[in-house]
Amino acid sequence: MGSTSSVVICGAGILGISAAYALAQQGFKDILVIDEHPPLTLTSDKSSECYRNWWPGPGDAMVQLMNRSIALMEERAAACNNMFKLNRRGYLYVTTDAAQIDGLRAAATEAAQLGAGELREHAAGSASYQPHHAEGYEGPGGSDLITDSALIQQHFPYLAPETAAVLHVRRAGWLSAQSYGMWMWEQARAAGVELVTGRVSAVETAGGAVSGVTLADGTAIKTPTFVNAAGPHIGSVGALLGVDVPVHNEPHLKAAFNDHLGAVGRDSPLVICADEQELPWSADERAMLAEDPETAWLLGRLPSGAHTRPEGDAAAQSILILWDVHNEKVAPTFPIAEDPLYAETAIRGLGRILPGMRGYLERMPRPSVDGGYYTKTQENRPLAGPLGVPGAYIIGAASGYGIMAAAGLAELLAGHITGGPLPEYAPLFSLARYQDPGYQALLANWGESWQL
Ligand SMILES: Cc1cc2nc3c(=O)[nH]c(=O)nc-3n(C[C@H](O)[C@H](O)[C@H](O)COP(=O)(O)OP(=O)(O)OC[C@H]3O[C@@H](n4cnc5c(N)ncnc54)[C@H](O)[C@@H]3O)c2cc1C
Repeated sequence: MGSTSSVVICGAGILGISAAYALAQQGFKDILVIDEHPPLTLTSDKSSECYRNWWPGPGDAMVQLMNRSIALMEERAAACNNMFKLNRRGYLYVTTDAAQIDGLRAAATEAAQLGAGELREHAAGSASYQPHHAEGYEGPGGSDLITDSALIQQHFPYLAPETAAVLHVRRAGWLSAQSYGMWMWEQARAAGVELVTGRVSAVETAGGAVSGVTLADGTAIKTPTFVNAAGPHIGSVGALLGVDVPVHNEPHLKAAFNDHLGAVGRDSPLVICADEQELPWSADERAMLAEDPETAWLLGRLPSGAHTRPEGDAAAQSILILWDVHNEKVAPTFPIAEDPLYAETAIRGLGRILPGMRGYLERMPRPSVDGGYYTKTQENRPLAGPLGVPGAYIIGAASGYGIMAAAGLAELLAGHITGGPLPEYAPLFSLARYQDPGYQALLANWGESWQL
């Protein structure tokens, strides 16, 4: 069997679908998306579906990319009467340690300088804090630093009374990523994009340029344009063209359970513990954990970042909980390895800022745990642009932010393919950046605080 296509996209995750949508919008015909799995089922349905325009430097490229990507998501939400339930509840960084306040302020000041929006401070007596809405994607940008306990308890009564400060990042929230992806997919399908079920096993070239692909079942498709959107497999798909895609994969999990104790408000933002901590184990528990090298690390100092958010409407009870405590580089295999301690560790970590979570220590809930891989470049910035062989392109390495970055990255990819105008930040997300001596020097001095 043989056929011809103007563009073949390998991968029907959120990035492949966004790419198909963006190219169809540009008037491309005969686009084929090839995937061995149904659309949006490998990594893209495992995310916690959150977004933010809050990104570190160096430079403002990540903030600009995300500002653009969020603006495109908002346009799409407006176009479909917000059927994918984009909200703007924000991210709430919570500390119980007054010594952390300067660090939160410094991060917010840096974010403001990079274009994420102004910082507003609210101490005792402040009446200027504007609360978020549970639904809808309207609201202020920037961030609000609240240091007054009464104001914190008024707006976030589920937080620990010992909370010293919260930083509320405002151009942030979540959406139904599955509905967003399916909406783009339906638009793309309506514009003529087709899905082929199969695994890309070879990419052919003629005269040094892409000429076609072959699937594992022997199907041959002629095409001048190939897009590698293979998610955790972008490395092995790049290798089909002899290109080294410098990425690695890390497993990341998330847990969900019914919060019948109401530890998190149903109208809450994404709540994040900004404190490092040692978990409060009993003497017996300490002794037991210390015995096993697999669990002894739970006795050490653990990083900040445990987070949770309500899932579903006000009448639901479900919440998501995540805490990335240790993530090693691995080869991506499926199903992803389980971690029986994942949910309990996250519940314990969140107990520091959400007293209601401590109630679960008596009787642990039965969470459902799933996850996927963060596919990352060394500096944790994504790839969107040419793949180094004429006619070949890549969109990927979107780590823990592929849902929120999908629209912005697909716009970049489409610009590269059509030769249309590209934003100033485009070169910083292309694979060619690693050949640039200036970028190599930047990488050599990539600071810890610049890691995402
Ligand atoms: C626990 C967790 C939480 C996350 N939370 C968030 C969040 O809150 N916000 C956010 O923005 N992002 C989040 N992410 C990240 C986000 O989910 C990913 O960045 C995104 O889904 C990656 O999309 P993708 O299209 O690149 O990959 P995928 O969804 O994996 O799609 C790649 C597709 O390529 C196909 N494929 C691969 N090789 C071949 C081949 N040879 N032939 C045919 N098909 C092939 C696969 O079958 C797959 O369907 C999270 C991720 C995880 C794991």
